[in-house]
Amino acid sequence: MEDSPASNFLQNIVSEDLASGRVTEVVTRFPPEPNGYLHIGHAKSISVNFGLAEANGGRCHLRFDDTNPEKESQEYIDAIQADIRWLGYTWDGEVRYASAYFQQLYDWAVYLVEQGNAYICDLSPEEAREYRGTLTESGRNSPHRDRSVEENLDLLARMKAGEFDEGARVLRAKIDMSAPNMNLRDPILYRIRKVSHHQTGTDWEMYPTYDFAHGQEDAIEGITHSICTLEFEDHRPLYDWFLEHLPVTGRPRQYEFGRLNPSYTITSKRKLKQLVDDGVVGGWDDPRMPTVAGMRRRGYTPAAIRKFCDMIGTTRGDGVVDVAMLEFAIREDLNENAVRGMCVLNPLKVVLTDYPQDKLEELSVAAHPNRDDLGSRVLPFTRELFIDADDFRAEANKKFKRLVLGKRVRLRNAYVIEADEVIVDDVGNITAVHAHTIPGTLGENPSDGIKPKGVIQWVSASHGKRAEVRLYDRLFNHQAPDKGDNTFMDCINPDSLHVVHAAWIEPSLAVAVAEQGFQFEREGYFVADRYDHSPDKPVFNRTIGLRDTWNNV
Ligand code: ATP
Ligand code: MG
Repeated sequence: MEDSPASNFLQNIVSEDLASGRVTEVVTRFPPEPNGYLHIGHAKSISVNFGLAEANGGRCHLRFDDTNPEKESQEYIDAIQADIRWLGYTWDGEVRYASAYFQQLYDWAVYLVEQGNAYICDLSPEEAREYRGTLTESGRNSPHRDRSVEENLDLLARMKAGEFDEGARVLRAKIDMSAPNMNLRDPILYRIRKVSHHQTGTDWEMYPTYDFAHGQEDAIEGITHSICTLEFEDHRPLYDWFLEHLPVTGRPRQYEFGRLNPSYTITSKRKLKQLVDDGVVGGWDDPRMPTVAGMRRRGYTPAAIRKFCDMIGTTRGDGVVDVAMLEFAIREDLNENAVRGMCVLNPLKVVLTDYPQDKLEELSVAAHPNRDDLGSRVLPFTRELFIDADDFRAEANKKFKRLVLGKRVRLRNAYVIEADEVIVDDVGNITAVHAHTIPGTLGENPSDGIKPKGVIQWVSASHGKRAEVRLYDRLFNHQAPDKGDNTFMDCINPDSLHVVHAAWIEPSLAVAVAEQGFQFEREGYFVADRYDHSPDKPVFNRTIGLRDTWNNV
């Protein structure tokens, strides 16, 4: 965990509250609605909420905000918990559910009715919209606003008993139909929904709204700082109104910060779900998805995601963050920690004609150039090798610092070789290159002084392994796929996935454990696929290239 408290405006508020004694312990919560997988924006919210608690010796709850049963499911509940754990955070106590407070919320609804602060309204949704007024025009009181407490209590009880149809009636707070803040124009507290709930089954046929539920849940749990994103700023007066008008004990306060919107990314669960439902990606955890599960499968690390969340700070602005910052954090982490290996993506056979058929040298090389603690690996060197076809040319000018006929190149961690002859098939395709080794060049320059200009990766053809390598790139080719005139479905990068079925990898890579990350030298960072990789059938996903190639796009 980070040991220095993130210095941001929220930390300043917490520090003041602790200093003034308004709170003695910081209690925050992360309240996802289980209607999709967590994405990078949620990772930011998690880092803010868990981070603030952690930095101040407090606690953070995980509370599923499950007041919309139609769109929610156990699959999402399980995935969200797994993602939070994977990011390295631990919530305080048991998992909490808004639905566990349904009875208490209902009792408080009855209380508001008894106090004359809520009423049952029979306006249809269309009528209610019309009565609500606009930003520039005051609303009008519902004709049902002055029902007696007795009638309201009776109707509320019958609503709970399931006597009325969906949409027939709602419970509304009696606040002010001319309030400039539309959220205070007699907001809805309960609506009838005849759907079963993943936690409470068929116990309820009406469900509380977010506004009526959230602050009260915070109060029940003793939350001190209820942190949400800016779109809830206009809901804060309502949040406070309920706490003032109900006999609650806790007094949580709501604070807002700007949502994280990385470029080239969408962070709406509805749109992400559409990508899944329409088969644009393979699932919520497709490595191209900005979901936590997708980033995990792509080979992003929890440390890098957390670093990124810290790096971008927490502000009250809603700006776009360059996704290159996230990619920078990933590269930095993997450069530091990922073991090196060699992979040939586009194999071209090289036969070393001077090297005996049955000879095998097992070269011991460092797993990482400056991390002795990561140990070493064994590279089998043999007569037949694969190099990348792009690393060879029969003829080339001086700028091409790889293997050229009649010229030399260094095989990474092994010998310098010189190319002698090209073998072509009937149609003129190069099928192999014949070459010879320059003796005495293991870790040494050639004694004749003719130094090779470049270094290339290679894999033994007889001892290497065939692998599937999935080359992922950004899912969207527009930096703001769902802003302005853009339709996100029209901004899909057609080259976001290219599968190489017959790449060759050095043997040490085949025995990787699922989710282990590597730098394939000269190619980029790759991870053994979480589900499909096995030593017999190795599968790697490209996490990210070595450099940012999108710089000027
Ligand atoms: P939707 O995608 O339907 O708008 P949501 O993103 O608000 O939903 P929730 O499950 O309600 O999803 O979010 C849980 C918490 O994560 C909330 O406190 C929310 O403010 C926060 N959150 C969601 N998206 C972002 C984001 N892009 N940046 C920062 N925090 C976010
Ligand atoms: Mg939400």
